[in-house]
Amino acid sequence: MKRFTHITPTSIHEVIPLLSEYSRPLAGGTDVLTELKEGLVEPDQLVSLRKLSELRGVTFDAGVHIGALTTLTELSRHPQIKDGPYQALAQSARLAASPQLRNMATIGGNLLQDVRCWYYRGPFDCWLKGGDGCPARDGEHHKHALFEQSPCVAVQPSDPATALLALDATVSVAGPSGTRSVGMQELLVPPTASRRKLHTLQLDELITTIQLPARDGWQSIYLKAMERATYSFALVGVAVAIKLDAGIFADARIVLGGVANTPLLMEDAAQQLVGQPLNEATIAAVAQLATQNAQPLPHTHYKAAMVQRLVCHALATMV
Ligand SMILES: Cc1cc2nc3c(=O)[nH]c(=O)nc-3n(C[C@H](O)[C@H](O)[C@H](O)COP(=O)(O)OP(=O)(O)OC[C@H]3O[C@@H](n4cnc5c(N)ncnc54)[C@H](O)[C@@H]3O)c2cc1C
Ligand code: SF4
Repeated sequence: MKRFTHITPTSIHEVIPLLSEYSRPLAGGTDVLTELKEGLVEPDQLVSLRKLSELRGVTFDAGVHIGALTTLTELSRHPQIKDGPYQALAQSARLAASPQLRNMATIGGNLLQDVRCWYYRGPFDCWLKGGDGCPARDGEHHKHALFEQSPCVAVQPSDPATALLALDATVSVAGPSGTRSVGMQELLVPPTASRRKLHTLQLDELITTIQLPARDGWQSIYLKAMERATYSFALVGVAVAIKLDAGIFADARIVLGGVANTPLLMEDAAQQLVGQPLNEATIAAVAQLATQNAQPLPHTHYKAAMVQRLVCHALATMV
């Protein structure tokens, strides 16, 4: 492993000038430390965020502000998140990883964690690492994409990202020229030839908070299909947020996780719900629409049926 230094600044103003292509923020360390050991990242310096107390915790006004260092355990247990319109977020946090990991893992680091593709994590010079080809396409890929978005078919591994997109979250980012606010679909994007990563955060930027808008009258749910009952990444994750008015869908957001480079907002499927009464026929039609543009790999066909089942189950459970 390459030698590096470690620094623990005490304010965001101290952190920003320290961030560059030669350094890495260290939050809970559950991903970045593994990547250091694997030689996937080789910074000269780790910039610990541990003492940035202003980035911890959850506050409420019209909506919700979540500090980037808030842990998945805190999100999963927060009384005002685990019940009510934001509960998909608490459910997604609770279903992620293991209790020990959730105690360390922060929501900011969770959104920026690297892909779990075994070729990427192993000694393969694949496309996402800057190489030419994708060995997963002709190799072991049963956990990979159902929808193609780029030459890479790895899936976005974050459960909370799927829930946050359903809840229409925005992310505040601090950098050398100030603070900017980005939507989830601007932050988490498919990789391109010139940007081989699944997000748009620059190396000199820091996620500070995540905002959720007011969701009066909404309810939400996150469901996850896994290879085993716990401690496993999503084969498929589904987050659904709906607003019902006298038994008619007034608004809806349906998001799929574990099936593409990014969480996928299924706008056509959600649109199909609006104005419709709640019944089995509506739910079945929406579930069908959620997979209409799927492009399965040879070993990911099974994910289409999983998506449909989870969408049906989510809608049926909520009403
Ligand atoms: C065995 C295992 C199972 C797991 N299962 C799941 C699962 O089922 N679902 C799931 O969603 N996740 C899962 N994870 C991933 C885990 O949730 C993430 O590793 C964790 O959330 C990352 O948070 P962290 O604070 O430890 O980030 P770190 O490891 O500290 O950082 C991750 C990345 O984000 C950067 N970073 C961190 N914070 C910031 C910030 N505020 N601003 C800018 N950059 C930042 C770091 O530089 C690094 O590149 C699993 C991980 C492991 C090891
Ligand atoms: S799926 Fe992506 S990360 Fe995995 S081998 Fe292919 S290019 Fe690399």
